Amino acid sequence: RRFGPTPATLGAIAALRWPDRTALIDERGEITYAELDRQAAALATALHERRPPGSAIGVLCRNHRGFVQALLAASRLGADVVLLNTDFSARQLGDVLDREHVGLLVHDAEFDEVVGGSSFTGARVLADGIAGPVSAAAPPPPHGRCRVIVLTSGTTGTPKGARTEPSLPLLLRSSFSHLMRVPLRSGEPIIVAPPLFHVLGLGYLSLAMSLGMPVVPTRRFDPDEVLAAVERHRVQALVAVPIMLQRLTEAASRTRHDTGSLRVVVSGGSALLPRVAEAFMDRFGDVLVNIYGATETMWAAIATPADLREAPGTVGRPVAGLKVAILDPDGAAALPPGRTGEIYTSGGVHFTGYTGGGDRPRRGGLIGTGDLGHLDAAGRLFVDGRADDMIVSGGENVFPGEVEDVLTGHPDVAEAAVTGVDDPEFGQRLAAYVVPGKGSGLTADDVRDHVRRNLARYKVPRDVHLVAELPRTITGKVRKRDLAHRDV
Ligand code: ATP
Repeated sequence: RRFGPTPATLGAIAALRWPDRTALIDERGEITYAELDRQAAALATALHERRPPGSAIGVLCRNHRGFVQALLAASRLGADVVLLNTDFSARQLGDVLDREHVGLLVHDAEFDEVVGGSSFTGARVLADGIAGPVSAAAPPPPHGRCRVIVLTSGTTGTPKGARTEPSLPLLLRSSFSHLMRVPLRSGEPIIVAPPLFHVLGLGYLSLAMSLGMPVVPTRRFDPDEVLAAVERHRVQALVAVPIMLQRLTEAASRTRHDTGSLRVVVSGGSALLPRVAEAFMDRFGDVLVNIYGATETMWAAIATPADLREAPGTVGRPVAGLKVAILDPDGAAALPPGRTGEIYTSGGVHFTGYTGGGDRPRRGGLIGTGDLGHLDAAGRLFVDGRADDMIVSGGENVFPGEVEDVLTGHPDVAEAAVTGVDDPEFGQRLAAYVVPGKGSGLTADDVRDHVRRNLARYKVPRDVHLVAELPRTITGKVRKRDLAHRDV
């Protein structure tokens, strides 16, 4: 049997290497790597006593030390650990807990109601309750092989449980290839703003633990608080999704925090529009990297600040040791630079399929991402959009991202999303959902005129809905399906 490097192993190694170094800084204060490991061991004892043998352990927590302790404790027991989305309704939660065979759930008190209202009948432990002093009983020895089951964002439906088997060589290669492109340093504080239950947050929590970095998790994203935390802890690295970066840029223009310590800011999880990247770098300096990946593959490509300046919109080059190919619609041939096809990647983890069956398309050892994209002559990758989102209007292909980028370039547009709706004449027509800037007086005609001035006629949205906000997933992606069915 192969034993993957579980989160518990990372925590234990960090405790040996840097016992007195700060591991976590949250609203309760700081704890060291040695304390974190001790608390995780004690919690493992408590979980062991309550867990129905053989069942998986679920974690339903916001970003705080309780999440990390639960993750380390559960993986220490060799249990399958299922990381749950804090946005779940009671019904979704019950379905996923059932599907993933969860027998014990560690959750925050704020989710009492949603757990109580779900179909879950297993054992429950409060994560907030375990954050204080814990029992000194000897933890059970680590046994079994822990798998961490990470759920996809649910952009296209119910979040899928991605099963990966990250062997030690695979994970080491993945970390090294990441560090070659993104210079994270041991001991430097890092803010991880995306949820730790999603692959982006989890990936950086793991990297930070393997480098002995103090992690500042954010329980709820508040741009002003993040900027204040950067100043207070002299934070050098920050991980966020693009909509958070947009909010940070806005917040920085009205506050006066010293953010000069920031050396690396990682954007991931969804498309980073060129103008969002540019505005961010103009405000915070050339510290931004754009990372492209998915729950099933981990990071596949990374754009450095120089890439983002030279080739706006790129997700950069494939990371070392990973293959990325653009295949034609049959998946038979690799397309040359400039031609759009489906992005396939060899993936940084060993993805073995979804819980309950289902897989991604595979070709010659590569996994299909479901994204369409192209390479430029310099070998840089561009994600044109998800295959599912492409709009075919009057026989012309339109990627919503291109129109969204133009829309958000209008000074009175705060956010925008474009989708296709059925049309008797054109097959599909474009519909834009636009959040106007505060007090702007923007009209639907202004929106259409602006696109008409910048793009071909068939890319001008015929329907324009002015809305108060856009429905988003936890990674900041607009839930296009909900848009189309939304009564605005
Ligand atoms: P589901 O599979 O449940 O529909 P999802 O695909 O959103 O949800 P994730 O694994 O969280 O689940 O997201 C991966 C997808 O996010 C990628 O396939 C891609 O479409 C998008 N993505 C991630 N990073 C980037 C990026 N840097 N630029 C553009 N798109 C990105």
